[in-house]
Amino acid sequence: MEKSIILLRGDGIGPEIVDGAVTVLKKVEAKYGHTFRIQPELLGGASIDDCGKPLTEETVTACKQADAVLLGAVGGPKWDAISVENRPERGLLGIRSALGLYANLRPAYLYKELADACPIKEERVRGGIDLMMVRELTGGIYFGKRKTVTRENGKKTAVDRMEYSEEEIERIGIIGFEQAMMRRKKLVSVDKANVLDTSRLWRSVMHRLSEQYPQVEYRDQLVDSAAMQLVSDPGQFDVIVTENMFGDILSDEASMAAGSIGMLPSASLGDGTRGLYEPIHGSAPDIAGQDAANPLATILSAAMMLRISFGMEEEAAAVESAVQSALTKGFRTRDIAAPGQAVVGCREMAKVVADAV
Ligand code: NAD
Repeated sequence: MEKSIILLRGDGIGPEIVDGAVTVLKKVEAKYGHTFRIQPELLGGASIDDCGKPLTEETVTACKQADAVLLGAVGGPKWDAISVENRPERGLLGIRSALGLYANLRPAYLYKELADACPIKEERVRGGIDLMMVRELTGGIYFGKRKTVTRENGKKTAVDRMEYSEEEIERIGIIGFEQAMMRRKKLVSVDKANVLDTSRLWRSVMHRLSEQYPQVEYRDQLVDSAAMQLVSDPGQFDVIVTENMFGDILSDEASMAAGSIGMLPSASLGDGTRGLYEPIHGSAPDIAGQDAANPLATILSAAMMLRISFGMEEEAAAVESAVQSALTKGFRTRDIAAPGQAVVGCREMAKVVADAV
């Protein structure tokens, strides 16, 4: 198969971790007889340094023409003094919106080798944690009208409006059900239907969709109860689908399960198969250029790209088991090493994974 991939290496550790993922993709290419046409483009601080803007039309056009986009991270102290609308992070929001990416997928998986780094008690995670959080990304309260007014008595009142249409709920709901179909066929839809109208509409759309997916074991859960269950019995969850703000909070809660921010991949999807894949962490300027970053979150993001955008299930699974094998053999970057344990650099970790594919 031939596929085109745009690399947005970005800033800080971005180039190191993306190059690590490319090392692994080259091995997949050779082993499975695919051709990946890989083209780098600029985003964030690197783009500001080159042409004064965090995101150019050239980058947007290249991403729109590609089958998938693999991103490192953007930002850093060098660009902190720039005005908010021209900061590196604007490039990130700009590319997500230009590609119409309304669904964010964040898996949370606990490798047993990293169980010590998980803050949840061992007896509560003995059965393992392997869940997928599907978060609506372009609607809800973060995108609603907002204002702050000063009342006659001089005190202020602030308003943020939460709004969802049936269409917005339906398209994210379908992604939730489709993810469940690809996994253990269990879906929990999280809302606050005992209080919010948006949640009652959310629930009714989800119920309608559930009739189209009879193979999926579906249930609703209130967000407060879901937050509690995520730490008391995280192993019960397969796929969770929820609106923007609930997803923002719950996905960070769930991600703690993996032990280190350097282990967590993500995918952002819109209509069609094209997606943007990136680790959830930032550009880590404190360790940039030292070959000390953990490339596994980016490598696992590349595995999601193989599975979701390219339909290469076997290849994606091979990358994921290569990561598992590197951990089982005891390879650790600094962020996931136990005290006294030997550490490898970013490049070597990527090579170990590539060799294991
Ligand atoms: P960060 O995620 O970059 O770093 C937080 C801590 O985690 C640091 O100690 C860092 O060294 C460590 N860390 C992060 N990724 C790691 C990895 N792969 N391997 C080993 N250690 C890792 O968050 P921050 O320090 O708050 O932000 C730094 C810059 O990144 C800021 O400019 C911020 O705006 C930007 N940022 C970008 C994104 C993105 O591009 N998606 C996301 C978050 C933050």
